[in-house]
Amino acid sequence: MKIFVARNPTEAHIVCELLKTEQIACEVRGEGMFGLKGELPFGEDTDPFIWLLLPEQQLMAKAIIDAYQKQTERQYRDWQCPQCKEKNEGQFGACWQCGYQIGEP
Ligand SMILES: [Zn+2]
Repeated sequence: MKIFVARNPTEAHIVCELLKTEQIACEVRGEGMFGLKGELPFGEDTDPFIWLLLPEQQLMAKAIIDAYQKQTERQYRDWQCPQCKEKNEGQFGACWQCGYQIGEP
């Protein structure tokens, strides 16, 4: 069964490896279609996805994927600088405007 649709092949492999370390049998599928994205109006079907080999592991796999998604969302969420109120993108650890670094008092 299809358990997770990734945004790109890299993400598909990260999640797949994550699941495998938790003894969940899965594989990446649909990768070959990714190169066609943009040329064909396939939508979600052209994205690589994780195929779960053992449906009885579904709940466990979903929990791991949920945790992964929460983690990446936090990582890439935009943040507002408490010092100069400038908006910064989540992947930056410091304010581009004033140089304030996340985690500083
Ligand atoms: Zn700032």
